[in-house]
Amino acid sequence: MRHLTQQFIDNQWIDSHGQRRLAVTDPYRQEQIAELTAGHAADVDAAVAAARRAQPGWQALGGARRADYLDAFAKGLTARRGELMRTSAGNNGKALAETEIDLDDAIACYRYYATQARALEARQGRVVEHDMAGVQAQVFEDPAGVVGLITPWNFPLVTSAWKIAPALAAGCTVVFKPSEVTPLPEHALAEIAESIGLPAGVLNLVHGDGEGIGAPLTAHKGIDKISFTGSNLVGEKVMRAAADGVRGVSLELGGKSPILVLDDADIESAADWVAAGIYFNSGQICSATSRLIVHEAVADALLDALARRIDAIRLGDPLDEHTDMGPMTSARQRQAVERYLTIAGEEGLSAVRDARHRDLPAQGEFIAPTLYRDVPTDSRLWREEIFGPVLCARTVTSDAEAIELANDSDFGLAATVISADVERAKRVGRALRAGSIWYNSEQVVMPQASWGGFGISGIGRELGPWGLSGYLEVKHLIGPAG
Ligand code: NAD
Repeated sequence: MRHLTQQFIDNQWIDSHGQRRLAVTDPYRQEQIAELTAGHAADVDAAVAAARRAQPGWQALGGARRADYLDAFAKGLTARRGELMRTSAGNNGKALAETEIDLDDAIACYRYYATQARALEARQGRVVEHDMAGVQAQVFEDPAGVVGLITPWNFPLVTSAWKIAPALAAGCTVVFKPSEVTPLPEHALAEIAESIGLPAGVLNLVHGDGEGIGAPLTAHKGIDKISFTGSNLVGEKVMRAAADGVRGVSLELGGKSPILVLDDADIESAADWVAAGIYFNSGQICSATSRLIVHEAVADALLDALARRIDAIRLGDPLDEHTDMGPMTSARQRQAVERYLTIAGEEGLSAVRDARHRDLPAQGEFIAPTLYRDVPTDSRLWREEIFGPVLCARTVTSDAEAIELANDSDFGLAATVISADVERAKRVGRALRAGSIWYNSEQVVMPQASWGGFGISGIGRELGPWGLSGYLEVKHLIGPAG
């Protein structure tokens, strides 16, 4: 069993001030695999102080030199590929193919922000065009300062890469708190920082829970900006904490994303996309397309095809390469999803496939893939994020009705449109209120395209140049020309 009772601060492993210990578990074997410090406000103080000392030097290094470190991060992750995939399968319960996606997307992200860091250095001080005679204006983009980064447990390597890579590229220094549920994959980031000789204090990793580290970090006046990915409940607390001292905040929160299947769709490929959109990673994806909106002309055929897909999904050991779907990442998340299944029973929802009617593996925090049809729009299952393999379907009779139903949500993270007519799919997609809209595809993520949501799905955008600008402050230098 591993003992993660030390924090990585100023490139040293320092005993946490926290006395509380948390159990880190393998959700398939249902056994403890590590003990973790819950952290302490004094750990945050030390990490913020180290990051503040390091920040001017890291900024002065310039984007091109910082880029070399980001490339080294990508290489460090690549070198530990097999080990990290197994660690993630064990700690997250992800099937191996899913751990590979988490890792590959993270590596791509570090590489992308290396190129962005070089481009940032090349454009510093560029002259701005204007119509004021005899005046020169230059624009500089400075780092926001010291940033606090907080991540959830569902895609540990990628959600942390989306923050750490642009923050370091921008010249910010970092205090990073991984999720206490899945600290093992992200723990490796501190080891990689150490092995590539990242200057001391640039990346500080503090383990702990919301009480031990999260709340003290978001309240800390030495933090210039907080970037948070997680639940809406905690996101609101983070935003309130950031208001004190008017510090920057970006929030990547939950989703209840729709998938629209139009009446010209090829049923078999539509069923593949729908299944991938909700059952991938056991439905524990913020952008899971958990509301199926299908034209009534093709609804029965699609639901039949989906039922066949569900029956073919192999539940089992995440480390077995034949497994399609692993357990939920924690007993807590399994229980949270089971509460929704109980509500579905109380509401009398009609199940095409019901989690409770399928044999489960002998061990593990499993929820079987589930599909309800004709779900009322006021059902809690239609409106709330479940974060599990539970799909709710409704039928419509036109594209306009499908768009209206899709947009009738407080969330606005992602959406998918399936149609044989690409132009029609794009037209419908363009009318949807979401940050990422896929047509005839699902969950396609690339570091060049933005990530983030409308409405209560969050504030700000990660990835692409937008992700970098979240860690930059723009300033203009203006005076007589020549
Ligand atoms: P969570 O909100 O419970 O925890 C997220 C992080 O916040 C953890 O590291 C946790 O320790 C920390 N935390 C808890 N209390 C805190 C506090 N008071 N102050 C500061 N930090 C605190 O979320 P979770 O259960 O880990 O993750 C699931 C949620 O994350 C889902 O709602 C999902 O949609 C969302 N998510 C969103 C995205 C996105 O990109 N929009 C990506 C992944 C997950």
